[in-house]
Amino acid sequence: MNAGKQLCRRAVAWIWPERCVFCGEPIPALTLCCDTCYETVHPIRPPICPQCGKSREDCSCGRRRHRYDRVASPFYCSGAVHRGILRLKRWDDSLAVSFFADQMAAVVRREFRSETIDAVSFIPMTMRDQRDRGYNQGKLLADALAKRLSLPLVAALEKRYQTKPQKFLTAVERSGNVLGAFDLRKGVDVAGKTILLVDDVITTGATTDECAKMLKLYGAKRVLCVTASIRHRSEEEEEPV
Ligand SMILES: [Zn+2]
Ligand SMILES: [Zn+2]
Repeated sequence: MNAGKQLCRRAVAWIWPERCVFCGEPIPALTLCCDTCYETVHPIRPPICPQCGKSREDCSCGRRRHRYDRVASPFYCSGAVHRGILRLKRWDDSLAVSFFADQMAAVVRREFRSETIDAVSFIPMTMRDQRDRGYNQGKLLADALAKRLSLPLVAALEKRYQTKPQKFLTAVERSGNVLGAFDLRKGVDVAGKTILLVDDVITTGATTDECAKMLKLYGAKRVLCVTASIRHRSEEEEEPV
């Protein structure tokens, strides 16, 4: 790089410093994350279990059947990724959305290459929740992912009533908490289609299962899930998301 370009880059970095995609701290130009975060990123390495999305060596789900057909994700929700997911829930952070969408697109191309996906969709919030937060992080991720995969984004589902936050509930309570909470939006047709359902994190899969159940009830052929991260049992000591 010539001296002029270097000077220019330094000036840009001084005015708009690059930020770590996970913690938001300033970092040197042309890097994605800070050294501290880098140490604690745990990618999910293939081959993966199609039911829980974890690496086969980490899978303990016993291939428990879900309402969705398959799930895949680039990261375990621990360390830096856990911080990044919490940031997504608290700020409309376009840098983190873009980073996670890139990683999710790579996972979809790798894991779902034999699938013909018709549309990308997301887990809806109630109007009140969306108004309080100002955005739906799942929708932001789904929108960015749909653009990367050149697929249409469809707001297929609506959330009919307020539920308790899933993060404080047991697995059984989580399923009961979201039972009947979602429905297909008027005018949306998913019959015969393969839908790619997007969320930021999957823990027990209760919410995703309930959404997949409704999509299938209305005739969806397949429901594939991709999330920015998957929660591992050994990470339960961290703040729930
Ligand atoms: Zn960081
Ligand atoms: Zn598994």
